[in-house]
Amino acid sequence: MESYDAIVIGGGIIGTATAYYLSKLKAKTLLLEADSLGCGSSGACDGFVIMQSKAPGPHLKMALASEELYRTLGDELDWDIEYENCGGMIVIETPREFAAMKTFMEKQREAGLDVELIDGETARKLEPALAPHIIGATVSKRDGQINPMRLVNGYTRAALRMNMEIKRHHKTVGFITGGEKVTGVKTNKGDFFADKVICCTGVSAPELMKTIGIELPVRPRRGQLIAAEPVERIIKRVMLCARYIAAKYHPELLENSRDESIRLGVGMALEQCRNGGLLIGATREFVGFNRNTTYDGIRSVANHAARMVPALKQIRAVRVFAGLRPYTPDGKAFMGTVPGYEGLYVAAGHEGDGIAYSPITGKIMAELMMTGNTSVDLEPFSLSRFH
Ligand SMILES: Cc1cc2nc3c(=O)[nH]c(=O)nc-3n(C[C@H](O)[C@H](O)[C@H](O)COP(=O)(O)OP(=O)(O)OC[C@H]3O[C@@H](n4cnc5c(N)ncnc54)[C@H](O)[C@@H]3O)c2cc1C
Repeated sequence: MESYDAIVIGGGIIGTATAYYLSKLKAKTLLLEADSLGCGSSGACDGFVIMQSKAPGPHLKMALASEELYRTLGDELDWDIEYENCGGMIVIETPREFAAMKTFMEKQREAGLDVELIDGETARKLEPALAPHIIGATVSKRDGQINPMRLVNGYTRAALRMNMEIKRHHKTVGFITGGEKVTGVKTNKGDFFADKVICCTGVSAPELMKTIGIELPVRPRRGQLIAAEPVERIIKRVMLCARYIAAKYHPELLENSRDESIRLGVGMALEQCRNGGLLIGATREFVGFNRNTTYDGIRSVANHAARMVPALKQIRAVRVFAGLRPYTPDGKAFMGTVPGYEGLYVAAGHEGDGIAYSPITGKIMAELMMTGNTSVDLEPFSLSRFH
């Protein structure tokens, strides 16, 4: 019988972060992954560590705490995660967006984020690649970027050095319980035991939680992305557009639009990676677990981004792909204990922010599991909020 202090289910950015911080707290940890590490959403996304897109309140608080950790995370892991504190910009095209972003920004400033609203001319001085019709932007120095797959590897390598074990191709199919306590998990390759078990299976979390009668309202929300060839630096910061913010927080506004790109939830997310390659996104669509790309989706993403940064028209795409964001109805992840099941925890549903939130999620979930306390209030993220 194999027994551990803690079992982490799911080897994405959230599961590997949690396993790393558990190992740091000296917990004998087992990481179970159904397939290979990073094969889910964390391997099909951008690398924005952006504060400006976070709603003031619990979201922004978590993001700022995560950003603090990012500053030293590469050194701590002894691994290059390609973190750049490059700053970020949200690009504004219309007066209506300008007014909405002004209100959003003021609330963020009240919540402690260093962010400012600038006019189009000032935005073009900072980012000369922007189109002449851009009328303004918000900018923050606290935004940055990382390489998500390198971070999955970084957490894993560091945790392995502290004696974590990994079992890949081990799909968890249920929990082992004794009365109201979870004592282990059942996988397709046998049972494993631990006092503490955490479900970090992203968009698949509802399937696993259902085995013990827990309804977790996490839905896959597809994002289609274009990866373009490495070129000389054309942008200095990570960039979103104001429509991205609307698509993220108000899906109900998109569904019946006559404009195809609005219906597809297209908002620009543009970053230039360390090697000069560009990631250009993205759609926001509810199409179940379908991870295919579509011609209409990719065309809309390309046209929308090239309207704001015309130089993109000269750059060749090398591949297109899609990932699934783990969406929740109020935009907040589920992080905490599972009511009625002592020893069981969940960290899933980070929608389009799981990369930004990964260090703080891993840290507080490990704290909660091993000490019963956390340095951040988890009440807004509790499982019971929909019941
Ligand atoms: C297009 C796109 C762009 C994005 N851009 C950003 C961004 O710029 N910044 C940002 O912060 N976030 C971004 N995100 C969001 C981010 O990718 C996700 O929030 C994050 O990857 C979720 O991580 P996770 O570990 O919860 O899930 P996953 O990465 O999906 O990991 C879950 C893992 O669990 C495994 N698993 C599932 N079921 C089982 C089982 N039964 N047993 C064992 N293992 C199992 C899966 O195989 C998988 O490896 C983006 C997402 C998309 C789709």
